[in-house]
Amino acid sequence: MMETSSCDIAIIGGGIIGASCALALADTGQQVVLIEPQDLASGASKGNAGALAFADILPLASPRIIRQALRWLADPLGPLSLAPSYLLPVAPWLLQLWRASLPDRYPANIRAQVALMQLAQTEMDALLENAGLQSHLHTQGVLEVYEGAHRLQAAQGTAQWRDRYGIEAQVLQGADLAARQPGLAPRFTHGVYIPGWRNVGDPQALGQAIGQCAQSRGVQHLRQSVRWLQASGQGVRLILEDGRLLQAGQVVVAAGAHSRQLAQGVGDRIPLDTERGYNTTLPPDALDLRQQITFSDHGFVVSPLRCGIRVGGAVELAGLRRAPNYQRAQAMLNKAKAFLPDLDTRDGTPWMGFRPSLPDSLPIIARSPRHPAVVYAFGHGHLGLTQSAATARLVRDIITQNTPAIDLHPYRVQRFSLWGKRT
Ligand SMILES: Cc1cc2nc3c(=O)[nH]c(=O)nc-3n(C[C@H](O)[C@H](O)[C@H](O)COP(=O)(O)OP(=O)(O)OC[C@H]3O[C@@H](n4cnc5c(N)ncnc54)[C@H](O)[C@@H]3O)c2cc1C
Repeated sequence: MMETSSCDIAIIGGGIIGASCALALADTGQQVVLIEPQDLASGASKGNAGALAFADILPLASPRIIRQALRWLADPLGPLSLAPSYLLPVAPWLLQLWRASLPDRYPANIRAQVALMQLAQTEMDALLENAGLQSHLHTQGVLEVYEGAHRLQAAQGTAQWRDRYGIEAQVLQGADLAARQPGLAPRFTHGVYIPGWRNVGDPQALGQAIGQCAQSRGVQHLRQSVRWLQASGQGVRLILEDGRLLQAGQVVVAAGAHSRQLAQGVGDRIPLDTERGYNTTLPPDALDLRQQITFSDHGFVVSPLRCGIRVGGAVELAGLRRAPNYQRAQAMLNKAKAFLPDLDTRDGTPWMGFRPSLPDSLPIIARSPRHPAVVYAFGHGHLGLTQSAATARLVRDIITQNTPAIDLHPYRVQRFSLWGKRT
């Protein structure tokens, strides 16, 4: 007979999403277990760029990205790459991405992103205040830079959406641009500065602090991996890696890019894939960096974090198993050196992380249609840190059966029909 234990709520995955959900559920009077085999925030939540990108409201699945993707794919170490052996497995995801970029879906996806971002701002402030973690944040803004007026003009679509949603942005050139970031290569003649943009000092430290706060409020961290999920009466049975069983009243699946297989355990087929991203973290004094800089046309950012200057981004479609190709991190570092010649590129630490990505650039925050005791909270792609507190608030609303803070319809599981109207 296998050993069985029980809890009210099991959260699978201790990244920024799972840790934030654990904190949000800690004071519900229920017994909460956070299941994570590693230290908290050791996956994608460790090495990201640390941006609270509330202004990033345009889904990646856009009419523009399809054109840009074809251009980027031409460069083997460019911002986007697709492993030839992964073309077949990722084809359905790409088809869904193309579908999401069409005019009958794209504006609705923007509205859904805006609603989540607005909640994300207020909930992040509330979470940090509640946990006493405000010192993890700093507001320095972000500077997007462009090579020529025509490249700035090409990004006008983004500007229009920003204006519509009241996001403050200043267009800069010449001396104003040079003053905003001294040492920028002269090929970058135009920029857009967004002052309200915030960064966290160290994404992993924040994720771990949130997790520790949850533990101090009664959440148990179980260092295990979940092998499989099974419906079991009203609740769910979790089969753990060491063979033990955990019977949970409700389960939150927050295992990032690894969530698809867990959802299959209760019969949900979800088109989750991973956009692998790379970066290099340099010592904090590697550059006098005044704010995050986004090189939009080159697909990477340079971020001033407390843990160092982080140069990274890019998207590699190659699944969860293939070994990292750190040449991609090096390629971005070389470009950063060319664009910011004062950057000292010595003593960097390369990193690769699995962004959990759904094809329409929106997460799933919903009960499973197959089993009401299973709640999904994954698929945040490029924006998981930004949307973590909002996701936790919504998961709490779902679990406690309160009216959700925003309409959850856009984040449901069943939205991925290719043809016809979505249910
Ligand atoms: C290069 C890069 C830059 C980024 N920059 C930003 C940024 O500036 N701002 C932003 O908002 N977002 C950014 N992101 C995206 C962000 O990092 C992710 O969206 C976010 O970290 C996802 O969090 P998560 O908790 O869902 O996943 P993860 O952090 O990957 O956590 C999932 C956890 O689940 C655990 N797990 C997996 N399977 C199981 C199992 N079977 N049982 C138990 N546990 C399991 C894993 O060990 C892991 O710890 C960036 C991502 C990358 C790669």
